[in-house]
Amino acid sequence: MYLEPKKNSAVVVDVVEEKREIIGRYRRLLRKAKPVLREGDAKLIKRAFTMAMEAHKNMRRKSGEPYIFHPLSVAEICVEEVGLGTTSIVAALLHDVVEDTDIQLLDIERIFGKKIAKIVDGLTKIRGVFEAGTSAQAENFRKMLFTLSEDVRVILIKLADRLHNMRTLESMPRNKQLRVSSETIYLYAPLAHRLGLNAIKTELEDLYLRFTDYNTYRDIANKIDETKTSRNRFIKQFVQPITEEIEKLNVDCEIKSRPKSIYSIFNKMRKQNIPFEEVYDLFAIRIILDTPIEQEKSFCWQVYSIVTDYYTPNPDRLRDWISTPKGNGYESLHTTVMAKNGQWVEVQIRTKRMDEIAEKGYAAHWKYKDNAAKYESNLEKWLVRVRETLEKQDLTALEFVDDFRGNLFNEEVFVFTPKGELKTIAKGATALDFAFEIHTDIGAKCIGAKVNQKLVPINHVLKNGDQIEILTSSKQKPNEDWLRFVTSSKAKGKIKDLLKEDRRKVAEEGKEILQRKLRSMKIELSQKVSEQLRDFFKVSSQLELLFKIGKGIIGATELKKFQDYKPSPLKKHAPSEVPDVKAIEQEIKAKRHEDTLLIGEDMDVVEYKLAKCCTPIPGDEVFGFVTVNEGIKIHRANCPNAPELLANHGNRVIKAKWTSQHEVAFLTGLRVVGTDRVGLINDVSKVISEELKVNMSSLSFKTDPGIFSGEIMLYVNDTRHLETLISKLEKVEGVEQVSRFDSRAGEKVS
Ligand code: MN
Repeated sequence: MYLEPKKNSAVVVDVVEEKREIIGRYRRLLRKAKPVLREGDAKLIKRAFTMAMEAHKNMRRKSGEPYIFHPLSVAEICVEEVGLGTTSIVAALLHDVVEDTDIQLLDIERIFGKKIAKIVDGLTKIRGVFEAGTSAQAENFRKMLFTLSEDVRVILIKLADRLHNMRTLESMPRNKQLRVSSETIYLYAPLAHRLGLNAIKTELEDLYLRFTDYNTYRDIANKIDETKTSRNRFIKQFVQPITEEIEKLNVDCEIKSRPKSIYSIFNKMRKQNIPFEEVYDLFAIRIILDTPIEQEKSFCWQVYSIVTDYYTPNPDRLRDWISTPKGNGYESLHTTVMAKNGQWVEVQIRTKRMDEIAEKGYAAHWKYKDNAAKYESNLEKWLVRVRETLEKQDLTALEFVDDFRGNLFNEEVFVFTPKGELKTIAKGATALDFAFEIHTDIGAKCIGAKVNQKLVPINHVLKNGDQIEILTSSKQKPNEDWLRFVTSSKAKGKIKDLLKEDRRKVAEEGKEILQRKLRSMKIELSQKVSEQLRDFFKVSSQLELLFKIGKGIIGATELKKFQDYKPSPLKKHAPSEVPDVKAIEQEIKAKRHEDTLLIGEDMDVVEYKLAKCCTPIPGDEVFGFVTVNEGIKIHRANCPNAPELLANHGNRVIKAKWTSQHEVAFLTGLRVVGTDRVGLINDVSKVISEELKVNMSSLSFKTDPGIFSGEIMLYVNDTRHLETLISKLEKVEGVEQVSRFDSRAGEKVS
């Protein structure tokens, strides 16, 4: 289910009213920017606005709105939600003019200077790469972060641009909604998180869910709403005794409680396979103090002391990010305490300044340090830091994105150098990770370490508070095993580099050996001979061939055999080549005069299979994905694998829908949970096979004392059929919950 795009074929536009609205929005932007404006800034913004306004004057967005609404909104997000200044406002206002209108980069440079022209250029190019949609998105993402973004503002404005596009995604065609949403959850939300832009990250995630699985989104939103009254009552009772005590401290204080975001509730339900009602940490209570910066810490701990006087804390859940802030700038004191009704409640204690940083990231951080005059120069410092955060070693694009995403969700551990200096590393990091963290040379020569004075091996995992000294030897050399001993992308990247360098040296020796041998066989080492050698020895690259010769894995005897080599007449294609998606689309189009694959009918045109990871059935929203070796696979739009597929290989996606015929049965999976009683399994299978004439393919039950949970694979006609079955099963005595399940395990999806 999703919202149909609004049709705007006959929009009646009130020009005067529209003009007023544009001016109104522009003034709102200026008002919001006011605290950071220096002399002359307002003039510059006005000039940019006039230029953008003129350039986009005859353009409208898909929603029918005047196009200028978009750059105005992006600029506003930059100021208000990212915390950027005039340079970014101007660039945001102009971000689409070079691509869409007659204005050229030179014009912008002439009027606004080199810096802004460069940012606009970066934004234009990023758009080019992203919208070409032919190559893998991960690669583009990396390009975006490095090649094009000398100025980090490019990335931040792009993030603002994406946020506004997600907010207005409703008017886009369905396939575009899916692609843009997937990219957002796969790339942009983690990016926002990395930059500490929490409010943006949360909104992007919620919008993703809204556009990929509207029913689930709406259900959770409704439930949050329905439980509001009882939640508020509970919170009121909970905070009442502590507010009285806090008042005695003589400090201004605000207590908020915001429920978890829809997406994070959804994620928890899916991961732990629990219904909404069982998500116990639906909300946290946030105590926000207004104190001078010097007294922040002491007040926060005093409040902690008050809270834990009334409620017993869970000792494992104390998090002190005030003494040692998180890598992305987050500061706060967290504890989880037991309420009087036996419910665990997370309490977050922080100051106003910390709260703003938590929502808006570093930009807010710098804002607090000085006054508006220094804002822009502090901002520069922050931007440099952002760049440092994003810089990574020479990894391939996919590795990069994986690492980047992986590193985001890691917790941090604090360790000390021998001199007592504090260092932050990711949880799970080893002594070797730490060595590479200090310096590549120290990493490369690392033979072990002393942790708290005791000798440990290089793969020793570091714990909070460890004091560590790295031991080195000039004879040490990295080997392949080391890749298993480290967790950080930095260390992995460096080790790979060092190994590559090593391989290259061996390969050079290999090349000399090969040339000598070939000469004695009177063969010249040409391009063609190289190819034949690779084919004969079944290696994938020249480097591998030369390396194997250098190492002696391919020796003199083997090389001699090459003399009798007869090249096969037919040149085989590399097996891992992706099929020609365009050709498949054309075939479908030729047959059906439409480029959508019709499941149930088009079997004669192209072959496809239903993906095992999400077992789609008619009624589900689906798409086709062209795999490397297994033809087209049909996935549900809300398949757990969908974001990765759509974001990385959007070019391999084919539109698909179900035929209206219903006589076919499709395999899907249900999970049944309940209290154990004699005869229950029997009753469940009876409902399935007898009452509804559904064909069961497999049934596996697990019984813990008192509880059972079962997974049933069965054949149904469509989603409606499945829903009837679910509601019948839910009526069986003892059954608590019936839900459809996705299995992520096992299957290779791309
Ligand atoms: Mn834009």
